[in-house]
Amino acid sequence: MWRTPSHLIGSVVLGLVALLVGCASVPAQSDPVVVKRAQMQMGTLVSITVVARNEAVAHAAATAGFAEIRRLEELLSTWISSSELSRVNASAGIKPIHVSTDTLVVVHRAMQAAEMTDGGFNIAIGPAVEAWSVTDGQRIPAESELDALRPLVDLQAVHVDVREQTIYLDKAGMRIDVGGIGKGYAADQAVEALRRAGAIAGVVALSGDIKTFGRMPGGKKFPVGIQHPRKDGSVLAWIDLEDEAISTAGDYERFFERDGVRYHHILDPRTLQPARSCQSVTVVAREGIWADGLDTGIFVMGVELGMQLVEALPDVEAIIVDAEGHVHVSSGLRDRIRKP
Ligand code: ADP
Ligand code: MG
Repeated sequence: MWRTPSHLIGSVVLGLVALLVGCASVPAQSDPVVVKRAQMQMGTLVSITVVARNEAVAHAAATAGFAEIRRLEELLSTWISSSELSRVNASAGIKPIHVSTDTLVVVHRAMQAAEMTDGGFNIAIGPAVEAWSVTDGQRIPAESELDALRPLVDLQAVHVDVREQTIYLDKAGMRIDVGGIGKGYAADQAVEALRRAGAIAGVVALSGDIKTFGRMPGGKKFPVGIQHPRKDGSVLAWIDLEDEAISTAGDYERFFERDGVRYHHILDPRTLQPARSCQSVTVVAREGIWADGLDTGIFVMGVELGMQLVEALPDVEAIIVDAEGHVHVSSGLRDRIRKP
């Protein structure tokens, strides 16, 4: 995961950009300043907005945030052959690999997200994702090809030993990939880096995986727009966030069409075909790791089971656009979203 340059347009757009850039240049002596910077990381556009007491602190915090994301990318990316996850994958069927706490936490949470979403989220899906190669090859694999891969998409064969701090895949050819959860964790950890560097408030956005902390200068919460799944560049709804994360999984991000059928990058682990029950799932949670970890799994579950799960979880809310384009909003969000 994390290398698709076409993924520049996030599922979620920040509404505050113009406003914040406006106040960056003319700070009164005691007013907080706002600095916004962006760069490519984890195969996507990362933007960091920092509110701080002066420009020097704000820039130092943003730099610390980018450095933290880089550090995590080097542990988690399967596009970097020396990363911890690449070493876990290269040792599939051979031996357990000792990993850092970060890698252990992400993979452990991914296994929990799999359980919560009834197997809808599955980090062992990699070989099937590759067979489809939605972004590059745009091919439709034969059912027999998918059948041959099915034994590899097996979470029972992923062994996470929390005490020994090791991960072992017990079938040769298996691969795990945290593309569906790692950006949320990176957003959380980058926010912690911002805080440690003295930021008063801020937003870290890895494309559509966004974590906010604190409030904007003047006391308003950070407004975030949710992308309409069928109207490019238009906002489905606005929501104001404070110390919350938001993440969207959508069938419009990476897809191709063949004979009027849309083939996209979120696969149903049971069929190994693109999941068909939703157009997009947006999750709001306290932590980015849960917002990101749950959106993909809920996308696979569909609106009925997905909403049941969301309503049962404290501090987790969702907006689900079903396959017909109907918008479903969880109870805790109904009074919080604004139509554009
Ligand atoms: P992104 O923001 O990159 O679109 P998502 O959170 O929507 O991330 O996750 C999609 C990515 O996760 C896909 O690109 C794919 O590599 C991987 N993936 C696809 N289907 C699943 C699944 N059912 N469970 C876990 N990961 C998946
Ligand atoms: Mg996700």
